[in-house]
Amino acid sequence: MSANYTFDVVVIGAGGAGIRAAIEAHLQGARTALVCKSLFGKAHTVMAEGGIAAALRNVWKEDGWDVHFRDTMRGGKLLSNWRMAQLHAQEAPDRVLELEEWGAMFDRTADGLILQRDFGGHRYARLAHVGDRTGLEMIRTLQQKAVALGIEVLMECTIQRLLVDDGRVAGCVGYWRQTGETVTLRAKAVVLATGGLGKAWRITSNSWEYTGDGMAMALEAGADLIDMEFVQFHPTGMVWPPSVRGILVTEGVRGDGGTLRNSTGERFMFRYIPEFFRAETADTEAEADAWYEDKKNRRTPDLLPRDEVARAIHAEVRAGRGSPHGGVFLDIASRRPAEYIKRRLPSMYHQFKELADIDITKDAMEVGPTCHYAMGGIRVDADTAATTLEGLYAAGEVAAGLHGANRLGGNSLSDLLVFGRRAGLYAAEYAKGRPKQAAVDRAAVEAASRRLAEPLERKTGEDPYAIHADLQEVMHTLVGIIRTQADLDEALIRIAALRERQTRVAAWGNRRYNPGWNLSLDLEAMLTVSEAVARSAAMRTESRGGHTRDDFPKPDPEWAKVNVVTRKRDGRLELAKEPLSEMPPELRDLVGEQAKPHAESTDMEATVPAGKPV
Ligand SMILES: Cc1cc2nc3c(=O)[nH]c(=O)nc-3n(C[C@H](O)[C@H](O)[C@H](O)COP(=O)(O)OP(=O)(O)OC[C@H]3O[C@@H](n4cnc5c(N)ncnc54)[C@H](O)[C@@H]3O)c2cc1C
Repeated sequence: MSANYTFDVVVIGAGGAGIRAAIEAHLQGARTALVCKSLFGKAHTVMAEGGIAAALRNVWKEDGWDVHFRDTMRGGKLLSNWRMAQLHAQEAPDRVLELEEWGAMFDRTADGLILQRDFGGHRYARLAHVGDRTGLEMIRTLQQKAVALGIEVLMECTIQRLLVDDGRVAGCVGYWRQTGETVTLRAKAVVLATGGLGKAWRITSNSWEYTGDGMAMALEAGADLIDMEFVQFHPTGMVWPPSVRGILVTEGVRGDGGTLRNSTGERFMFRYIPEFFRAETADTEAEADAWYEDKKNRRTPDLLPRDEVARAIHAEVRAGRGSPHGGVFLDIASRRPAEYIKRRLPSMYHQFKELADIDITKDAMEVGPTCHYAMGGIRVDADTAATTLEGLYAAGEVAAGLHGANRLGGNSLSDLLVFGRRAGLYAAEYAKGRPKQAAVDRAAVEAASRRLAEPLERKTGEDPYAIHADLQEVMHTLVGIIRTQADLDEALIRIAALRERQTRVAAWGNRRYNPGWNLSLDLEAMLTVSEAVARSAAMRTESRGGHTRDDFPKPDPEWAKVNVVTRKRDGRLELAKEPLSEMPPELRDLVGEQAKPHAESTDMEATVPAGKPV
C-alpha cells in the first residue's frame, strides 16, 4: 500500500535545522511538509547541552562577529568555507534573539540579558544557554512556532530515496514506521536536515537517528559530499559503567571550572598547547586558575579546541596515565561549590548520579573521547544552502563546510538556525520559480518499494544487528581517532565484506514497528557513509583537526588548500581533491598570519604520540 502527497517544499528532518527551514519556507508562502523518522520534538538536537554560540556581546563587549569568525576559522584549521563562517558569525546573534522572541527562556545576566558561557576555542564567553539543556529549549521553542503556524508534520516516517527527474529533485520515497507502508512525497524542492552519522562507531554520543541517511541519499541522487574524513571525537564522554560509555559530558563542565587530570594528578593539558594557540593559552596552573576567576588572563588549556583535547587524553591513556576505566579525570568539585554545580549543570549532576553512582559535587568524573559530530557532509552553496543537485538544499549536521576540519562547541546550534533559515528561504524561492512539479518516475518508486520489502521476504540471511555491531567495531578500531594507511586499507576491505553481507540481510516479523527491519534498511546508508569516511581519510595524507594520521603526523600546507570531494558515479564512490575558494584579504587579516596565502607554517596541532584507539 502506498500514500502520496504533493508539496512545494519537503523538509526531511525535524531537528533544529529542519524545523527552522520549514518555518522559513512556510513564511515565504511555500506549501511545506516537515518529515521525521522519530516523534516530532524528539530529534537529536534535544540532547544539545552547552549552548548556542553567538557574539551577542552580553558578557564581553570586546566580542563581535569578526572574533567569532576568526575563532571558527582557526578551530576549523583553515579548512572552513570562509563565506559560511562569515555569514554564520554575522547572523547568529539575530537568530538567537529571534528564538528568544519566539519564547526561548535563556539563563540571564544580572542585568537581565541572555547569559553567555565559555566553551573550547571561543575567545570570549559566547554561548547562550539554558543550564545544560539548551537543545531541549531550542526544539521546544521551534516546535511550538511550527505548530502555531500550522506546518504539516509527517512523523515516524523514514525517507529512503530521493526522486530525481531530468537532473532535478522531484520528491522522495520512504515508509511509515508505524505501519510499514510506503509513502511518496512529490516536491518542487527538498531540504535535507537529517543530521549526522555517529551510529557507525561503537563509542558515540549520538542518538539512534544518526545513521547517515541524508548524506547517503544525496550521494545516491548525484550530489557531492565533502570533508568526510573529518569526524569529531569529543574529548569527554562517560567511560564507566560500560552500558553508558560514550554518553556526552558537556564542555560546559570545563567552561564552568572543571579541569582535566591524569592518574598522577597532573593537569596534563599544559603539555599539549599547540603553537597556534600559545599566545592566548595560559601556560601555568596559577595563570589558568586566575582565568577561571576573572576571565581576563590567557585561557586555560582545558578549553583548547576539541581535537587537541581528545588527542591529548588519548595520548595520556596510551602512556599508562589513564583512570581505572581507560579515561582521565574531570574535576569540578574542588573548584566550585555544590550549589553552583547543581544550578549550572543539572543534567550532568543527575546523569552521573543515576548512571554511574558518582556525585560530581564531591568526586571527579572519568571521561574519554567519544564519536560526536560529522564535520563532513553534503556540499552546499554558502549563501543559499543549495547542493550540487538542482532543487536539493541541505542544512545542519548533514551539510558540510562551516566547521572545516574541526567544529567548535556551540557552533552547531547556531549553524542550525543560520543555515536552516537560509535553506528554507532559498528552497521556497526555488519552488516559487517552478510553477509545475517535476515528473515522478513510477519505476523508481516501485524499485524503492521493492527494496523495502526484500529483508522481510528472505527466509534466511544475515542478522542486521550482527552486521551493525561488526561495522561499529571496524570504524572504532580502524577509522577512529588515530588512523594509518594500513588500518584504513583494512577497514575498506572489511566494509566491502559487510556490504556483501548486507545484500543478504534478513529481518523477522512484519512491517509494523519492526526495529530489526528498520535497521536492516538503515545499514545501506551507514555502510555508504563509512566507506566515504574511510576513503577520504586514506586520501588525506596529513593530520588536521579531527583527522589524525599516525603515518603523517603533521599538517601539510598543501592540504590546507583543498577539500576531498566524494561522488557516486556508476554505482561506485569516486574521490577528488578540489581547491577551496580564496578568502578575501580583509577576512584573512582577521584570521591572522597562518591564513596568509604563502604562510610557511600551518602548525596548528600539538604533536601527540599516537597509536591505537582507547
Ligand atoms: C549530547 C550532545 C550534546 C550536544 N551539545 C551541543 C551544544 O551544546 N551546542 C552545539 O552547538 N551543539 C551540540 N551538539 C551537536 C548538535 O546537537 C547537533 O549537531 C545538532 O543538534 C544537529 O541538528 P540537526 O538539525 O542537523 O539534526 P537533528 O537534530 O539530529 O535532527 C535530524 C532529524 O532528521 C530526522 N531524520 C534522520 N534521518 C531521517 C530519514 N531517513 N527520514 C526522515 N527523517 C530523518 C530525525 O528524525 C530528526 O528529526 C551536541 C550533540 C550531542 C550528541
